[in-house]
Amino acid sequence: MIEKIHTSHTGIENSLKLTKQNLFWPGMTREITEKIRYCEICQRHSNSSQKLPMMSSPIPEHPWQVIPMDVCFAEHQEKNRKILVFVDHYLDYFKASFLKDLKPTTVISCLKETFSRFGIPELLIFGHALSPVQRLMSRQTRQGLSSINLKMKDVTKNIEDRHKHSKLYCDRNTKSSPALSLRDKVNVQLKPNTDRVWSRGHVEQRSSERSYLVSQNGKHYIGNKVNVKLRQETEENSVSVESSESVNINK
Ligand SMILES: [Zn+2]
Repeated sequence: MIEKIHTSHTGIENSLKLTKQNLFWPGMTREITEKIRYCEICQRHSNSSQKLPMMSSPIPEHPWQVIPMDVCFAEHQEKNRKILVFVDHYLDYFKASFLKDLKPTTVISCLKETFSRFGIPELLIFGHALSPVQRLMSRQTRQGLSSINLKMKDVTKNIEDRHKHSKLYCDRNTKSSPALSLRDKVNVQLKPNTDRVWSRGHVEQRSSERSYLVSQNGKHYIGNKVNVKLRQETEENSVSVESSESVNINK
């Protein structure tokens, strides 16, 4: 019976749901879970890990002090565009710039252009990783705007409250997954935006609170906790080599 349920390899959750709608036998949940847990195919096509708890950014005390930025993809005038977005939580202001590509030189020249107009923030937060802007710019930073130090306690307090509130709201359905350790065997989504398939790899290094440097087929890849999860392995399937399929990492 389990074989039948499992023919389409939809993973534990879905198989259980499907079975419970049609069948019942004692110990059903345990049996199905045990059977499917180690299945190579189900793991390869499983969903992303649990939604992670929201991480609140540091509370800024003046404008353009703490700037989260990220690249977004959007359609604009019938073209797929890449947009670098900067957010100033102090002013509730954002700036968006089109990028012609995602080459480091292109991104850096966009940063330079932005910083020359707005000043250099104390802290630039990219994606999930906190990267002090000093390291990014490899030189002393914060000329110009550093003189601005408007300590408006009310504004700071407001932002703090807003962060707390949105964190509470955002974390309703989340849980922290346990941290992975060095050499842990993991499954990793190499191109989570376009391809949900999981490939086998192992943890080479923890690169920040939520991201890992994962080695996959001799290549390295940085993934966050959503795209990297611990492999479930039995004695027999752990001896096989890492995915023989050649994967192109477009990073
Ligand atoms: Zn399966």
